[in-house]
Amino acid sequence: MKLLVTGGAGYVGSVCAATLAESGHEVVVLDDLSTGHADAVPDGVRLVEAGIDEAIGGVLAEGFDGVLHFAAKSLVGESMQDPAKYWHGNVVTSLRLLDAMREHGTPRLVFSSTAATYGEPEEVPIAETAPTRPTNTYGATKLAIDHAITSYAAAHGLAAVSLRYFNVAGAYGRYGERHGVETHLIPIVLQVALGQRERVQVYGDDWPTEDGTCVRDYIHVLDLADAHLRALEHATAGQHKIYNLGNGLGFSVKQVIDACREVTGHPIPADVAPRRAGDPASLVAGSERARAELGWKPERVDMVGIVRDAWDFTRSRQGA
Ligand code: UDP
Repeated sequence: MKLLVTGGAGYVGSVCAATLAESGHEVVVLDDLSTGHADAVPDGVRLVEAGIDEAIGGVLAEGFDGVLHFAAKSLVGESMQDPAKYWHGNVVTSLRLLDAMREHGTPRLVFSSTAATYGEPEEVPIAETAPTRPTNTYGATKLAIDHAITSYAAAHGLAAVSLRYFNVAGAYGRYGERHGVETHLIPIVLQVALGQRERVQVYGDDWPTEDGTCVRDYIHVLDLADAHLRALEHATAGQHKIYNLGNGLGFSVKQVIDACREVTGHPIPADVAPRRAGDPASLVAGSERARAELGWKPERVDMVGIVRDAWDFTRSRQGA
């Protein structure tokens, strides 16, 4: 297939662009490089360096079999302080994409959605049938886009799949996580191991979990990429299918830090800090639907292995 990957210079987008290209698809990346990196675009993949708003019509006029839409603003804290950036940058831009796909007859869409669409869960693991009550603007914008996709699919025959990611982690060779401002747990802990940061703060140890720290479902980015390939194959005209993607196992903040200590051999000093606003105690995916319908199964579920891949990537960047 000829596929357009928006946001293909970012973390998840670059890993997916690489695996799609390796699977024999013709891939074009559209990325404005506002948070992505030109050198993260895989070799042999054409980069169109532009925003969706100005460039999407011209690019899709070339003729594509599908779009994988990763380009987005994705910082929860920033989304609360500057909501306009998220409503415009995520929702308005995605509507432009949907309209351009309709205009140019692009048949398939795979959309990067998020577990943040669910908000505070009533039950864990979280199934796709759980209520969607996002607690932050980021999640609200992704949910709004999911709703738009549902109605475009029904009305205009689009074959659409939304993948709701839990906590994406790990790396694939030279493709990994490189954020300007780091807020995510594993990269922060690895910065301590590299000597770029003195200590890690654990946001609360009085949560109603086994060891008192928050539990999250960390999914290896390569397992995620595999689900995107399957989603493309299973997309059906006129339908919008929604799948959760997590490894189904929860790891506490303490367990993640311990895995980082084991992998890096660094003591990684940690302090208990106040809870972070908006954090739920425990988020674990129920991914049965993806397993049953996509035939997908996460293969890299071991936290030490996930951290090792992230660590290898982080260290290789030091030499870059
Ligand atoms: N966390 C932490 N210290 C940090 C960063 C994160 O204790 O410096 C915790 C955070 O409260 C959450 C978990 O680690 O429970 C994962 O946070 P992250 O920001 O990586 O992902 P999120 O779950 O917010 O999407």
